[in-house]
Amino acid sequence: MNPLVRSLEDLGLPPFLQELSSVVIALLDENGHVLAANRGFLRMAPPPEVTSEPWDVRSLFVNPRLEDVQALVPYHGGALLLYRGILNVAHDDQPCRSLQGHIYRWQQGRLLVAAEYDVEGLEMLGATVMQLNEELAETQRQLLRANRELKRNEATIRELMHTDTLTRVGNRRRLDEALASEVERGRRYGDAFCLLITDLDHFKEVNDRYGHSVGDEVLKQFAALLREHCRQSDLVTRFGGEEFVLLLPDTDLTSAVACAERIRRHLESQPLTPQVNRITASFGVAMLTMDEEGGGLLRRADQALYRSKKEGRNRVTQSIAPGQNAAPDTGCC
Ligand code: GH3
Ligand code: MG
Ligand code: MG
Repeated sequence: MNPLVRSLEDLGLPPFLQELSSVVIALLDENGHVLAANRGFLRMAPPPEVTSEPWDVRSLFVNPRLEDVQALVPYHGGALLLYRGILNVAHDDQPCRSLQGHIYRWQQGRLLVAAEYDVEGLEMLGATVMQLNEELAETQRQLLRANRELKRNEATIRELMHTDTLTRVGNRRRLDEALASEVERGRRYGDAFCLLITDLDHFKEVNDRYGHSVGDEVLKQFAALLREHCRQSDLVTRFGGEEFVLLLPDTDLTSAVACAERIRRHLESQPLTPQVNRITASFGVAMLTMDEEGGGLLRRADQALYRSKKEGRNRVTQSIAPGQNAAPDTGCC
């Protein structure tokens, strides 16, 4: 402890003031040398080790400067409040701190500095930080909600991009993507994979006789019928016009032909709509070979369909690749 700096108690001030650490109190002489200081002041600005020199703290007061405060009112004796407000103090290289306090003119031109850390300001800052935290949390919640909504929208858009608007089955894009991945899967695992293509017979006559909207309804009902006769793992797509393609994973040629036959017979025996008594469809079925791409498989199925049309319609034709066995009781090509 610097012996030149005395305790406030020695000046006759109450001892508790000496012990306070959140309140800064110092008595300075007219040259800014510390005569007495309490614990808070010594903590804020520890005195230099050199003991013979008076401790000059003028540089501590950055704003307002001590000299400026002293110059405010000439000394006429007695105690006088010179300054009240924010005291910006900086000790050595430490960052500037703001205190809330008073500077009094004391007896013999001395200065009494009494200040406290800006507790109210800190409390307000704490409250502001808490409020900002809450706002941040709310923003994060909103972002999460928006993200979920975005994902839902993305899924809907993806679904729309892959769905035929009239019949609600997969569209050509869906067919192309699914065919590529199913061919890849079939080849990798060696599972049987079949493709069924079907086209309504003389559909143009339906439009011509009953109108386009009845034609649309027939297409919708035909798509629904195809779906009814499929397993969950099969995929029904509209290839274009009144032509549909079914992807049948894990299905051999015999089962695929049987599926086509079931649909054909059902269609032949029951009207799709009240207006159109009878409509039939032709079918082509092909099973993937190990060295075949999706395009080749589709071509073979289409050739089989063409054969069904050519041979009188309302029939199923299977395409038999080299090494494949034909399903019984059905035309082949
Ligand atoms: P085929 O037995 O040879 O298949 O004869 P088709 O009359 O069924 O075939 P064609 O290719 O001559 O005619 C197909 C018709 O399908 C012509 C076209 O106007 C109609 N069509 C295509 N898309 C739609 C559609 O979305 N709605 C309706 N109502 N008709 C459609
Ligand atoms: Mg047709
Ligand atoms: Mg057609």
